[in-house]
Amino acid sequence: MRLEPTNIQQIGNELAIQWNDGTESYLDLQFLRRACPCAACGGEPDVLGNIMSRPGGMSYADNSFELAGFEIVGGYAIQPRWRDGHGTGIYSFQYLRRLSQPVTPT
Ligand SMILES: [Zn+2]
Repeated sequence: MRLEPTNIQQIGNELAIQWNDGTESYLDLQFLRRACPCAACGGEPDVLGNIMSRPGGMSYADNSFELAGFEIVGGYAIQPRWRDGHGTGIYSFQYLRRLSQPVTPT
């Protein structure tokens, strides 16, 4: 079965995603924005779930972490639009799923 969301909505400062395997993900919007995978942001969490910010990379405003809306792209990804005008990050469902997985302490 191909993993895809059955429902996506913003709840407070989180993006809530229901998946077709019956699970749910809650992604903090600030975390989501910092994980923006577009070329300008280059966000990608490391194995500990920390997102390394690139030197000289994207700078954020107060409204950078506010979601203006989102679109489903190509049936495999979500493209959020942020209130600061940024909207080039395409988050594949797999990526979202990985972002939302809890980190197991070692
Ligand atoms: Zn970006």
